Amino acid sequence: MSTAPDPTYRGRFAPSPTGPLHAGSLVAALASWLDARAHGGTWIVRIEDVDTPRCQPGADGFILRQLATCGLVSDGPVVWQSRRGPLYQAALDRLITAGAAYPCACSRKDINTALHAAGIGRERHHLAVYPGTCRPERGGLHGRAARAWRFQVGPGTLHWTDRRLGPQAQDVATEVGDFVLRRADGLWAYQLAVVVDDADQGITQIVRGEDLCDNTPRQRLLQQALGLPVPGYLHTPLVMGGNGEKLSKQNGAQALDLAAPLCALNQAAQHLGLPAATGSLPDALAQWVSAWPWRDLAPV
Ligand code: GLU
Repeated sequence: MSTAPDPTYRGRFAPSPTGPLHAGSLVAALASWLDARAHGGTWIVRIEDVDTPRCQPGADGFILRQLATCGLVSDGPVVWQSRRGPLYQAALDRLITAGAAYPCACSRKDINTALHAAGIGRERHHLAVYPGTCRPERGGLHGRAARAWRFQVGPGTLHWTDRRLGPQAQDVATEVGDFVLRRADGLWAYQLAVVVDDADQGITQIVRGEDLCDNTPRQRLLQQALGLPVPGYLHTPLVMGGNGEKLSKQNGAQALDLAAPLCALNQAAQHLGLPAATGSLPDALAQWVSAWPWRDLAPV
C-alpha cells in the first residue's frame, strides 16, 4: 500500500526515562516511527524528564541505545524537557495573562476535605476532580500561599477523532476538572510540557499508547488557549501484563532483551496487527512500513 509522501509530517516518540523501554513502550516507539516513515515524514525523539523524582539516572541514554539497536534513530537532535523550563514558563505566563490559569493553595488533603464536605466521594485510583476552591470567581487564594498553577477548564464536551479509535468525547470540566500546569513542588506538569514541546517542535501527528488517550482533551484545550496548531492523534493498543493491567515500568515490566532486536520488534509489530517479518532489521522495518494500515491522516 502506498501513500503520497507528506514532507510536512513530523512525528515523535516521547519516553519518560523512568526505566528502560519494555515490550509496551516498544509498541508505541515502533508505531510512531512506522507512521512517520509510511507518510514520508520526520520522526524525532524527546526525553520527557520533567518529573525528575520519577526519572532513573542513565535511563535516557539506555532508552536511546535500545531504540538505536532496533533501528529507530531520531531524525533530528534529541531534546530533554528538563532543559526547557523557560519555554514552559513563557506559556504559563501567556495563560495567566489570558486569565486561563490561576494559582492554587490547596494540598491534596484540602481537596479531599472539600470534596468530602460537598458529599462527593471518589473511587480509589481515580483522580480527584478539583472542586474549584481557588478559582478567581470564588475568591482565589483566600489569603493562603500559592502552591501550584491550574488551568481553568470551561464547561462543555470536547469531541475529537482518533485515527485508530474513532470519535472520542470528554467533558473535561466534570471528568477531570481544573488540572495542574505547574506543581506545588515547582515541577512542570506533563500536560503543559507536552503541548508546548509538540508545538515548538512542529509535531503534526502524535502516535502513542492508548493509556494517554484520555489526556488528549486536556492537551487540546491547552492548544486552543495558547493558539497552537492541533496535531492528529493515533493511540496504539496497550500491552497487558500478567495481572491484566497495562504493562508498565511501575508494575515490573521486564526491560527488553535486545540481544535479538528483531524478535522484540516482531512481537511489537504483531501487537500492531502487522505480519511477522524476516530478513535483516532494515528489511523487516521496510516490510512493516509497506503494511502500515493507518494511512489516513483523518481530519481533526
Ligand atoms: N512521556 C510519556 C510516557 O512515557 C508519553 C507522552 C506522550 O507521548 O505524549 O508515557
